[in-house]
Amino acid sequence: MTHDSRESLPETLLAVSSERTPRKHLVFSDVDLDRVGRQVGYFYVPHSPDDDAWGTTRIPIAVLKHGDGPTVLLEAGNHGDEYEGQLVLGEVIRDLDIRRVRGRLIVIPAINLPAANAGKRNSPIDGLNFNRAFPGDPSGSVTQQIAAFVNDVLMAASDAFISLHSGGSSLDILPSSIVHCAGDAPHTERNLAAAAAFGAPVSVLLDNLGDTRTAASAAMAAGLTTVSVEMAGQGTVSREALTICRRGVASVLSHLGALKDVTPATPTPAEMLYKVAGPAAYVIANADGVFEPLFSIGELVEAGQVAGRIHFPSDPGRVPLDLKCMQSGIFYAKRQPGLVRQGNCCAVVASRAEMASRD
Ligand SMILES: [Zn+2]
Repeated sequence: MTHDSRESLPETLLAVSSERTPRKHLVFSDVDLDRVGRQVGYFYVPHSPDDDAWGTTRIPIAVLKHGDGPTVLLEAGNHGDEYEGQLVLGEVIRDLDIRRVRGRLIVIPAINLPAANAGKRNSPIDGLNFNRAFPGDPSGSVTQQIAAFVNDVLMAASDAFISLHSGGSSLDILPSSIVHCAGDAPHTERNLAAAAAFGAPVSVLLDNLGDTRTAASAAMAAGLTTVSVEMAGQGTVSREALTICRRGVASVLSHLGALKDVTPATPTPAEMLYKVAGPAAYVIANADGVFEPLFSIGELVEAGQVAGRIHFPSDPGRVPLDLKCMQSGIFYAKRQPGLVRQGNCCAVVASRAEMASRD
């Protein structure tokens, strides 16, 4: 809508179309965000399938409130087949001494519970990817309603957002924190400092090819200090990544001033800052076949080197196809299943990045 057309609308229509008009939500919860202490409960998303006419999908949520400090929203299970974060946030809910909290932690270990229960990336209820559903729709499908509730209610009440991912069933990713670039430099600097505080082996500037429908994008639009992580993957639980994730969550909470008595991880050094920027970072299959990677995660590669080959077992006389790295950097992620179809992401090469303001 152009500025001119808005001016021609009657006053009442302008009010309805205003972005500031609160959206009505059908989601309800049995936890009180303002109550001091530890609460473990649920929020309920109305869902009316064949076998449950007036039913709900209920998502576990915990609120740990003690003393003065920031509100930090922590999520895992955004994609249901990414497990390290789900386990760590369960530990936070069960084991964290609330006297160490300064402020409020809102903890959701399996935010896309239908996907988590199914061990799938996307929700089996509506087929949607939760991390492509923001800002959500309070009148939409289950996934859209969860996203709208998180966007409008939980993010609006928070100062910072920690989003715990892994590579899922299809990828293995170098354990890393993700730096989100915001529209203004001070906000980006806050995100960068929080990502470094996590203490992963590397930090990576990553923009999902500019997709703004992610939870992190929504959090940044709300002004929250935002840090995501990628912890291994392969649809399994990595012991090494679990250790990094457990220590990293405590370290970021300490960095944000929301948790005391933490021995923080050593921050990720500035020289371990990489970026996944643009299509050149992605090694994409150009045929159906079986992918053979020629590097391991974390190895350094040069532009033009062969990242891997696609073999054709059903046509053994055919010469395998080379897939080349489009840029130099670190072998950041690789496809987990051997079988690939054209268009699949077989590997990701992250290139070195520098941020001048970082010490
Ligand atoms: Zn994910």
